Amino acid sequence: MTAPFDDPIALSQALIRQPTVNPCHDGAQDLLAEILGTLGFRTKRYHFEGVDNLYARIGTAAPNFCFAGHTDVVPVGDTAGWTTDPFGAEIRDGILYGRGAADMKTSIAAFVVAAGRFLADHGAPKGSISLLITGDEEGPGLHGTRRLLPAVMADGEKLDHCLVGEPTSEDVIADIVKNGRRGSLNAVITTTGKQGHVAYPEKSANPVPVLLDALAKLRSMKLDNGSPGFQPSNLEVTTIDVGNPAHNVIPASATAKFNIRFNPNHKGDDLMARIRQLVGSASGNIGITLEMRVSGEAFYTSPGRLTDLIISAVKAETGRAPQLTTGGGTSDARYIKDVCPVAELGVRNEMAHKVDEHIPVDEIETLCRIYYRLLASYFAAA
Ligand SMILES: [Zn+2]
Repeated sequence: MTAPFDDPIALSQALIRQPTVNPCHDGAQDLLAEILGTLGFRTKRYHFEGVDNLYARIGTAAPNFCFAGHTDVVPVGDTAGWTTDPFGAEIRDGILYGRGAADMKTSIAAFVVAAGRFLADHGAPKGSISLLITGDEEGPGLHGTRRLLPAVMADGEKLDHCLVGEPTSEDVIADIVKNGRRGSLNAVITTTGKQGHVAYPEKSANPVPVLLDALAKLRSMKLDNGSPGFQPSNLEVTTIDVGNPAHNVIPASATAKFNIRFNPNHKGDDLMARIRQLVGSASGNIGITLEMRVSGEAFYTSPGRLTDLIISAVKAETGRAPQLTTGGGTSDARYIKDVCPVAELGVRNEMAHKVDEHIPVDEIETLCRIYYRLLASYFAAA
């Protein structure tokens, strides 16, 4: 238990000591490629527009069980707020500190050590184990999993099941497994009229009532009553801005923003088309413009073999059954869902992206054991 690939805590420290703040050359992936190579994995790096990505696989046969994650981290933020070096990976009173300790270098260390222990105990798997690691999840995400996955597929790879190691746990390690995520749509709506004196409304065109009418229509738009594993889709108006300091001036324009978190009843494109039709492009002499962007589609992995194996592994290791949920933000599982069933399980997310990001070291070891059990039961049944 001295070499870093036998110990998920030592490997977590080694990964955190690589300051992989997005965007960067990814030293953590260099280290992973080296260790995985030592374990017998074939590794291939994929570089897209300065972003490093890594795919590694051991075995050639199906089924191919894939662990997916990201080595990039968010900036440290207020350095004065840290009580340790954000890239020092110091362990204090059984707690590991550093950027990426929660999101998500510890999960990646747990992947690698679980795979190493599995190979040491069981020999070559009856199938394949792979790792899909991107360096662009915390940034724009344009050159990460979104591009890596099709490139890996084009190289003839096929994934059968995938576990993403995003920090999903809430109160205790492995209490939450995510088997889906809602989609997210952001929109800006702007109405443009003609500025003028409130005493002479016939000489101007007020964009404010038109904006309020459009928002009322949007808010009464029927989305759905929920779908298996999901709450009803929901629209929230997040701001209305006119910026008019005067009592006696009809403003020239008004803007509002809204977000829709949607379940798999909807596709982003269909929602945007419905919104455009509902709001229109003009009302009388007031122009209406909409800017919309879908940052992620919804997905759902129906409870089944993958989730059953994960739940059993967690129960066997912790004595507690995790809950399957679909809450929270988006993750790269939104791309992986197009190629195979995918679910997410990692350490607690409470400290992700925060100053003094940290995780108790025993959680890392527990997660590693859960991943090990998952591999053992997956290949026992293969
Ligand atoms: Zn993450």
